[in-house]
Amino acid sequence: MHTKEHKEFQEKMCLLLDSFAQELPDKVNEIEALWSKLQTQWNMRTLQELHRAVHNLVSNGKTFGYPDLSNKAQVLEQTLKSLMQREVSADTAHAADILQQVQALKKISVEEGLVLSKNGAVVIEEHAYLPNPNESNLIFVVEDDAEAAQELALQLRYYGYEVEVFNHLDKFHTALQHRPHAIILMDVEFPEDKMGGIHFMEKVQRDLALPVRVIFISVHDDMVYRLGAVRAGSVAYFTKPINSTELIDQLDLITASQIQEPFRVLIVDDSATVLAYYTAILEQAEMTVKVVSNPMELLERLSDFNPDIILMDLYMPGCNGIELTRVIRQMDDFFSTPIVYLATENDFNTQPEAMNLCGDDFLVKPIDPAYLISSITSRVTRARSIRSLVIHDGLTGLLNHTAIKEELAREVVRSSRLNTPLSFAMVDIDFFKKINDTYGHAAGDRVIKSLARLLKQRLRETDIVGRYGGEEFAVIMNDTDAISAAKVIDEIRNVFSHLLHLSHDDEFSVNFSCGIADLAHFADVASLSEAADKALYQAKQRGRNKVVVNSGD
Ligand code: GH3
Ligand code: MG
Ligand code: MG
Repeated sequence: MHTKEHKEFQEKMCLLLDSFAQELPDKVNEIEALWSKLQTQWNMRTLQELHRAVHNLVSNGKTFGYPDLSNKAQVLEQTLKSLMQREVSADTAHAADILQQVQALKKISVEEGLVLSKNGAVVIEEHAYLPNPNESNLIFVVEDDAEAAQELALQLRYYGYEVEVFNHLDKFHTALQHRPHAIILMDVEFPEDKMGGIHFMEKVQRDLALPVRVIFISVHDDMVYRLGAVRAGSVAYFTKPINSTELIDQLDLITASQIQEPFRVLIVDDSATVLAYYTAILEQAEMTVKVVSNPMELLERLSDFNPDIILMDLYMPGCNGIELTRVIRQMDDFFSTPIVYLATENDFNTQPEAMNLCGDDFLVKPIDPAYLISSITSRVTRARSIRSLVIHDGLTGLLNHTAIKEELAREVVRSSRLNTPLSFAMVDIDFFKKINDTYGHAAGDRVIKSLARLLKQRLRETDIVGRYGGEEFAVIMNDTDAISAAKVIDEIRNVFSHLLHLSHDDEFSVNFSCGIADLAHFADVASLSEAADKALYQAKQRGRNKVVVNSGD
């Protein structure tokens, strides 16, 4: 993270710690008041309320830098808990003891607050917050054959990469010093040295603090070259003639971390201060955070936000985290969403049943921010990859037939509700059977993959792309009427028809046809997809390599 952002984050944290400190006297007073209320009239509800208030001090005290207060509160919590379990009122001896504990809480909250304000608040180490290094879409092609280099650059640009070409090593070297994040496509052989590219990169890697990502391209395919490449820090090695589809695959893989959308984290906790604290930590790790402070609003938030993970407080007024988790687990859409309880050590000892109740894990407060981030990251990564296997097509990585149909249903409902435009496009490769017959099934597969990739890279993030069938694709475009959708797809059609595909020594190109319909003319899922299908049929009839809109007349 940049120092400026870190400073802003620190300031935010200080404000939060301040506000906790300011609220603290009220919280302790509340505990005192609840206790005296219990003395005049003993009842279970008030006792539960008191227990919850004390429990919050235990967990939040630790989080916000009041360890002694937290420990004292924990002793009191135990006492209250045993009273609750036995469902009896405190006898006189007990009552005196509790009163003493409450007063001790009050005292220590003041003392610890003074110490804190003198020493400065909790310091968050900067190094704990290194998010992903600034990845980029930038490629340096370093190749002495100017024509080959331009050809390669052209193909890469079609797939959305930013490309700079260098025909000489020294010019490249200067550029790299300014933009070390670039991915390098380095030719191995240069006029002055048969392994010039390899030797040059070896030196570059030695001089730079962080390794550069380099892919070598070479006419040589023997061990001496491949080993040299590895020693020069290569992440991949391609032999000429380059199969650009495989090369793009590799580049997509290398840059994949950057394409990933931010993690969506939902935090359920009744304390505004706690919510703000975790939100600040997670947001600066570039996660998207939504909060629920009133459990009764949970369901609405869930379906709107569709979180990757839920952080769940255990104690809240009205209901507890375990009950909420059971509710969530009974909903099909969130059956496998990771749920992590934010607990105190105490809960961990006394509530092992919480784990059996469908939560995935506990994080024990105070939670080290770096640990919180890494533990969310690993859980969400895993959950996403499992879900990904279920909804994506293996060949292209696009949504599969079932998933895209589900998305269409969802988007139709959403757009109807918001009264916004929505287009549905069906794309089908022209004369694909002939491609298979002429160049083989494997070449056909590569064509399917290249169209998939092109659609993904050329469409907006908010557009949804799926593989509808063999060589058929479907695209859902939000906030887009059929005419605008047709413009976008037609541009992609044009680019696709210029791509060169390789099969052994043959080069060939392929095109597709597309049919589009929108929600304004076809108001439900069935008629919308039927209309797009009809338009596709017309595009084929009218000579293929065309985009046709069905406007209902
Ligand atoms: P049209 O222009 O009318 O669409 O002609 P077409 O040949 O593309 O039409 P058709 O739908 O009859 O043929 C599609 C072919 O795509 C049939 C099938 O063998 C092939 N195919 C389907 N799935 C795959 C796949 O995953 N990989 C490959 N290589 N071929 C596939
Ligand atoms: Mg076809
Ligand atoms: Mg077809």
